[in-house]
Amino acid sequence: MIREALPAEAIRTGARVIGASPGAVVLEGGERIEAGGVIDCRGAGDLSLLDLGWQKFAGVELRLEAPHGLERPVVMDATVEQTDGYRFIYLLPFAADRIFIEDTYYSDLPAMDAAAIEQRAVDYAEARGWKMAEIVHREKGVLPVACLGGAFGEYWRSGGKTAKAGLRAGLFHPMTGYSLPEAVRMAQRIAGLRDLSGAGLRDATIAHAAERWRAGRFYRMLASMLFRGAEPGERIRIFERFYSLAPALIERFYAGRSTLSDKLRIVAGKPPIPVGRAIGAIVKGARA
Ligand SMILES: Cc1cc2nc3c(=O)[nH]c(=O)nc-3n(C[C@H](O)[C@H](O)[C@H](O)COP(=O)(O)OP(=O)(O)OC[C@H]3O[C@@H](n4cnc5c(N)ncnc54)[C@H](O)[C@@H]3O)c2cc1C
Repeated sequence: MIREALPAEAIRTGARVIGASPGAVVLEGGERIEAGGVIDCRGAGDLSLLDLGWQKFAGVELRLEAPHGLERPVVMDATVEQTDGYRFIYLLPFAADRIFIEDTYYSDLPAMDAAAIEQRAVDYAEARGWKMAEIVHREKGVLPVACLGGAFGEYWRSGGKTAKAGLRAGLFHPMTGYSLPEAVRMAQRIAGLRDLSGAGLRDATIAHAAERWRAGRFYRMLASMLFRGAEPGERIRIFERFYSLAPALIERFYAGRSTLSDKLRIVAGKPPIPVGRAIGAIVKGARA
């Protein structure tokens, strides 16, 4: 295996880029860096061009007065009250008396009351009989979790005319919001290119991103079913059914590699939401 690494002096941190083109980058303060090729990875472009469903969360890492007794992480405890969309608690036991508790909502709107959500995470601990000694860490966030549709071309252009990768290139899973599998795909694609000029990188990255956008159509249709076909309180039923499917199918789903038979399996059977609304959402999703 060939390993390449950039020399330390080639890495610049704490430098804000104010302009990027296929052959140069301009930093705040005016410094201009000429390059054979530029890939812009400055995070999301104009997300208002996409039709999104939101994941809101607030979490607390607690030091407890006594061990919690949990042996493994819990990825989704959805036995909690279902409010503001699909709601679940995520548990990471870091040590016998330390646990991270995050309260998450798959919601139509990005607005959130972080203090109230954090309090619910603390209440969850109390309900489990875990007595809090102190909060050692907090986090909160609002992320686009699902992409129901949108104008890919306009979204791409909103991030400038340079080659792009990451969220800026629209490379995230339309149903999970995760970007790591797509980042690996893009990295492999770039590693296999012969033409690494600015124009070559731009053409290759837009072609790759457009291909991945088309490949995401099925997932966008599911996202439409989840966010438009299901009432917020019904979303849990879709998740309950999905996570009862075969683990290998779920792995392929997360990796964005669902096969045709996976797709049929996912939509087969009686929909967990009313048929009329499910079909409406599917028709709308198929156009996106
Ligand atoms: C709590 C949480 C959990 C997550 N869990 C997962 C997970 O398990 N798996 C998964 O795949 N994804 C996960 N994600 C999503 C994942 O973090 C994002 O999809 C991913 O970080 C997007 O990568 P990106 O490089 O495109 O953009 P970003 O991570 O947003 O990186 C953009 C970078 O560009 C820099 N930047 C922006 N503007 C400028 C500028 N003008 N000049 C210089 N630098 C600039 C920013 O400082 C930043 O470092 C999670 C996100 C959160 C918040």
